[in-house]
This record gives sequence, C-alpha cells and structure tokens, in this order.
Amino acid sequence: MARMKQLAQRGRQMKPRGSGGEVPVRSRDRIDTWRRWYKTPEWRALRKDVLIGALFTCARCGFIGESRDLVADHIEPHRGDRDLFFDRTNLQCLCATCHSGAKQREERRAPRA
Ligand SMILES: [Zn+2]
Repeated sequence: MARMKQLAQRGRQMKPRGSGGEVPVRSRDRIDTWRRWYKTPEWRALRKDVLIGALFTCARCGFIGESRDLVADHIEPHRGDRDLFFDRTNLQCLCATCHSGAKQREERRAPRA
C-alpha cells in the first residue's frame, strides 16, 4: 500500500520516460482513451473544484483530508462517456477508502462487459 502511494507521487513529479509514446496500445484501447482524460488540464481543474467545493471533506464518511487523500468520484459511472466524465454535477468528493469501496460495489453490481 505505502509503496503504491510512493510510486504514484513519484510518477507525478517525474516526466514520462522515453519520447512520444505514452501507454502501449493493447487490447485495453478503450480504457486507455478515458484514462488519458485524467491527465488533461480540464480534469485537473475540475477535480480541484470538486475538492474545494466539498471543503476537502468526503461526501460519504466526512473524512477531511488533503488533496492526495481525496478523489473526485463519478457518481454515475462514466463508462467512457466524455460528457459524463467532465460533468461537474456528476462529481463528488470521496476519500480513498470510500472511493475504493464504492467502486467495488459498483463492479459487483455491473455485469462484466
Ligand atoms: Zn470517506
């Protein structure tokens, strides 16, 4: 766990290795497409707005944390829908714990594509 966090933080500071190519193209094409949206300035601004709007408080459990502890969560799963992804009204502030809990529930509910 601690190791994953470290890697994530390091990843943010480091420039991408190599030139040009980002994520190698695999069968995950579709997922990689929206994963890239998380790297856009639009998303960063939106995420910040969500966290500030929520006063850095988890909507589920009331945990108050720093930016790195919190997630801008899609209330309705975007499933690659760009409009839904960037819809400010579809976003809520969750702590990492509640976020992973919510995602697990969602995956259990949703049929595997
Ligand atoms: Zn929480």
